[in-house]
Amino acid sequence: MSFAEAKTASREILTGLHDVMASRNHAQAKLNRVVEIIGEALTSEVCSIYLLREGVLELYATRGLNQDAVHVTKLAMGEGLVGVIAESGRILNLDEATSHPDFAYKPETGEETYHSFAGIPIIHRERTVGVLAVQHADPRPYDDVEIEALQTVAMVLAELIANAELIDDSATDAETARQTEAMRLTGQKLVVGMAEGVAVFHQPRVNIEHTVADDTEAERARVYQAFGKMREQIDTLANQAEFGAGGEHKDVLETYKMFAYDEGWSRRINAAIDSGLTAEAAIERVQQRTRARMHEIDDPLLAERMHDLEDLANRLIRIVAGQLGTAAQLGLRNDSILIARNLGPAELLEYDRRRLKGVVLEEGSLTAHVTIVARAMGVPVLGRVANVRRLIHEGDELLLDVEEGSVYVRPSVSMAEAFEAKLARMQQKRAEFAALRESAPETKCGRRLKVMVNAGLREDVAALNLAGADGIGLFRTEFQFLVSATLPRREAQQKLYKDVLEATGDKPVIFRTLDIGGDKAVPYLRAETTREENPAMGWRALRLSLDREGLMKVQARALIEAAAGKTLNVMFPMVSEPWEFDEARALFESQRVWLEDHHHMLPHDIRYGCMLEVPALAEALDQLLPRLDFLSIGTNDLTQFLFAADRADPRIADRYDWLSPAILRFIRRVVRQTGEAGVPTTICGEMGGRPIEAMALIGLGVDQLSITPAAVGAIKAMIRSLDAGELRGRMDEWLAEPPPDMRQTLLDWAEQRSVAIA
Ligand code: PEP
Ligand code: MG
Repeated sequence: MSFAEAKTASREILTGLHDVMASRNHAQAKLNRVVEIIGEALTSEVCSIYLLREGVLELYATRGLNQDAVHVTKLAMGEGLVGVIAESGRILNLDEATSHPDFAYKPETGEETYHSFAGIPIIHRERTVGVLAVQHADPRPYDDVEIEALQTVAMVLAELIANAELIDDSATDAETARQTEAMRLTGQKLVVGMAEGVAVFHQPRVNIEHTVADDTEAERARVYQAFGKMREQIDTLANQAEFGAGGEHKDVLETYKMFAYDEGWSRRINAAIDSGLTAEAAIERVQQRTRARMHEIDDPLLAERMHDLEDLANRLIRIVAGQLGTAAQLGLRNDSILIARNLGPAELLEYDRRRLKGVVLEEGSLTAHVTIVARAMGVPVLGRVANVRRLIHEGDELLLDVEEGSVYVRPSVSMAEAFEAKLARMQQKRAEFAALRESAPETKCGRRLKVMVNAGLREDVAALNLAGADGIGLFRTEFQFLVSATLPRREAQQKLYKDVLEATGDKPVIFRTLDIGGDKAVPYLRAETTREENPAMGWRALRLSLDREGLMKVQARALIEAAAGKTLNVMFPMVSEPWEFDEARALFESQRVWLEDHHHMLPHDIRYGCMLEVPALAEALDQLLPRLDFLSIGTNDLTQFLFAADRADPRIADRYDWLSPAILRFIRRVVRQTGEAGVPTTICGEMGGRPIEAMALIGLGVDQLSITPAAVGAIKAMIRSLDAGELRGRMDEWLAEPPPDMRQTLLDWAEQRSVAIA
């Protein structure tokens, strides 16, 4: 069949199906008519429809096979060619059906006279609900154009079958069974915790309700516009490098771009529209065809690309259907566990924290800001779960156990029981940690350490009091900017800082000035932060603030006024050279003087400190320390720069260990130097919130940690069971001559000394 013939045939079929769907006939009569229409248009001797009923594929209508076989011929999933198609969801196109190893002879059909065979799965809402098969007496395979025409028909059939209520919801077929089967998926532990909830997709899939177009030209215009919009979106994302709305990575964006501009893709969609489909159905039809082809080519690299194309096709359908919102904008209805490829920190913050119980990502890394935000929100996150968006379906029941690094999908009774028992044990442990609330973080050898918390969300203030911490060692002021659609005004900033100071009472709070840029994309500053090859090393944090003095001046005033009558601790992020600290401090001082001149109440003291997260600063500490009131080591950025390993890149996220001698020696050197200069020094990166890492840090001489609130209990328990003096001696020995596995060495030592490593 030529291309033009196939196009005419599928148009004919669709027009015919359109009439059948509109008719008032009984479902069976409709199907009988459908097989006639298809058979005639494709000049196919046999055309049959099998539908899934109670797990079995039943011949529902046929042209060409014996009519006596209708409702009599039944095939189990995986049985015969039809069963194989339904089970695999894949197309079969054979010139000689009988020579296929899975051919199953059903005498009542009289099909022995036919040689060629093509079968297409009928898919409704990502589930196989039947099979459409055509057969010919000639032994010849069907052309590509014919297969495409059949796929078009199968899509419309799916709609017809659904409307005729012929979809068997109680089906227990293998496909459905696979999709309802309990399973355990594993991933990387990003934010430890446990949660129960239903799966919600960050970018919900669109269910295609209408497949046959009323007006083909109107559908073409819709797709044309959607392509324009999608290309615009992709260009914007690509220009923002790592700032992708879904946290997309650069190479992903490049692939997106390639596909978005692929003429072949848009041409195929157009051709599908020509055949009479709606825009949504045409995109999905082309996607189904691509999927089928990809299955034939067994290449992991291509599979990865297919994944990107799926994303893009989904995006295009969402644009066409006008469903652009994320699940956050649509509103969560139940306890939900969010499923996404990746997320940006601002996107996560849009969710209702009371209903968002957990997150499962296909990508993600330990120190990416979205992980830090989730940790601050107390939401467990499991990352790098392969194929999660294919294996989990919207609405699936999930048990998330990040302690163990897994998520149970559609759990069995025994899985649920084991989970509940573990949850109870965890709650018990949490209660034990909570009991340490009033206990000081004092080592067995009598060293009183300081354990503070990292915060940034208004709600963290409550967590601070609960955890019995010594203060806020890092208040990430950019969180307020990330959640806001517009630049927060000075009054709003001041109110937040004042509330935080009030809630913390006598305990100190260290406010870090804005650290935006990098993966902390702020929509209203986007235009200025575009086109960076390496945003983490680009125009971010203090670098941006010193160039945009207006922003920093507003924040300085808000902080100084909020701390009237109290001590204000200000910390500057990403200081690379001492002059940057000097300039930032001078800017704050100028604001203080201005406020004093205008008779505003002032803080009784302003203490200035900075973060050490750029390695070069360590070489300039001798110059800087005399000017500093305190220092905070940000191990998240520091380690990414020490190892030249992007903290957000899933491929290298766990390649380097925080307990490597390089990092430990570096930190020991800094801590010794600040100790000699009498400058209080805190560790405020995620490293300090993990018991074994925190133990190692204390062994290096660190005596102040600022960590995630949820970890305070565990860290206190560790400290209270630790002989820091003895460890310090051992650390020096280990760092002089590092053992092959420092992590294991530390774990063994902790175990021998009964140090509480939760
Ligand atoms: C750090 O880099 O370690 C740090 C605490 O800052 P942030 O994670 O906010 O970049
Ligand atoms: Mg940092």
